Amino acid sequence: ASVFSVVQPGPPIEAFALNKECVDDPFEKKVNLIIGAYRTEESQPWVLPVVRKTEIMLANNEKTNHEYLPILGSAPFSTAATAMLLGKDSKALKEKRAFGVQTLSGTGALSVGSRFLVQHLGAKHFYYSDPTWENHRLVFQHAGFEKGFAYRYWHAGKRGIDMEGLLEDLSKAEPNSVIILHSCAHNPTGCDPTLEQWVQIAAVMKEKKLFPFFDSAYQGFASGDLDEDAKAVRYFIDQGFELLCAQSFAKNFGLYSQRVGNLTFVTNDPSTIPSVLSQVTIIVRGLYSNPPSHGSSIVSTVLNDPELFQEWQGCIKTMSDRIKKMRAGLKERLVKLQTPGSWEHITSQIGMFSYTGLTPAQVQYLKTKHHVYALKSGRINMAAVTTKNLDYVASSIHDAVV
Ligand code: PMP
Repeated sequence: ASVFSVVQPGPPIEAFALNKECVDDPFEKKVNLIIGAYRTEESQPWVLPVVRKTEIMLANNEKTNHEYLPILGSAPFSTAATAMLLGKDSKALKEKRAFGVQTLSGTGALSVGSRFLVQHLGAKHFYYSDPTWENHRLVFQHAGFEKGFAYRYWHAGKRGIDMEGLLEDLSKAEPNSVIILHSCAHNPTGCDPTLEQWVQIAAVMKEKKLFPFFDSAYQGFASGDLDEDAKAVRYFIDQGFELLCAQSFAKNFGLYSQRVGNLTFVTNDPSTIPSVLSQVTIIVRGLYSNPPSHGSSIVSTVLNDPELFQEWQGCIKTMSDRIKKMRAGLKERLVKLQTPGSWEHITSQIGMFSYTGLTPAQVQYLKTKHHVYALKSGRINMAAVTTKNLDYVASSIHDAVV
């Protein structure tokens, strides 16, 4: 007999369960398009050369130690991360009404931020795009929100954003609802609003007094340009919104396991900052006490050194260019194979993922027949497609569709 016998298993986390299946699959030509991690042409993880170099530098520095960081993390890190998001010339930064705190990657920033909104701003409802990154709901539910709602986002027919549906759903939200917005490279659809569409979204949110919580997990990955990829967040701030933004350095620095993140707060009144910081400190203290230092010291060193920064931008370009090439290559092959349907969206979508439009049955067929693994939603990681598996992926998709 065990007290634990009352525990029933919960639903599996799709991406991780499927990933394990793929790892265990002995088939030589298998292709893993599941987890959102960058791969090289050799299908290997990529430690960015600038990251490797900085790690070595830090390891060789006698001053490097493993003391605890402060509860809110490294100040040079969070200052640089916040500036990267808001832009060096940001008015909010100049007016000292924006600040960041170091968190456990993007997920940690969402966790801390959502808890803060519930505990201190009395937030009750959150809204997430339909579809969204599958962890948004879990994180916000755990934070204690009373209820989560989907707002329309993906229009299957158009293979694009359902702007009418989105605006209608947001216009019906209760005041003070928290709206999760992907700042760029929407996961899973790869479809971002245009600036004109962001203008419309901001207008509804302002009118209905909705609170923006941006999720920036892919800055630099969408366009290859850090400023371009932050334009939505910056536009909202220019419009006078107070907001939160969760930043992840998992993808753009390739520091997935190091859990490097930042939670930015923008307020209209700098006198609110000491109290906010004090309450965020208590939230973090009760959750995990303080964040790890290895990854944040790498990011902080790179962001604060002009030469390393430039080198890093080159790495981002390498990654985003390779993804774009693979998009073009996949579309070209599907068109050549005369695979039924339009494949325009493969190149019009941006960021790491493509929302292929494959049905769950086609995805299942891809796996069982060809050992090509994708999420049930049809999302594939474009960063795992290479010139070596491109033909195989294309012909497998073709076979699944016809
Ligand atoms: N938000 C979105 C939309 C994501 O895709 C991810 C990564 N899959 C994250 C947040 C956070 O990831 P991490 O906690 O690894 O930074």
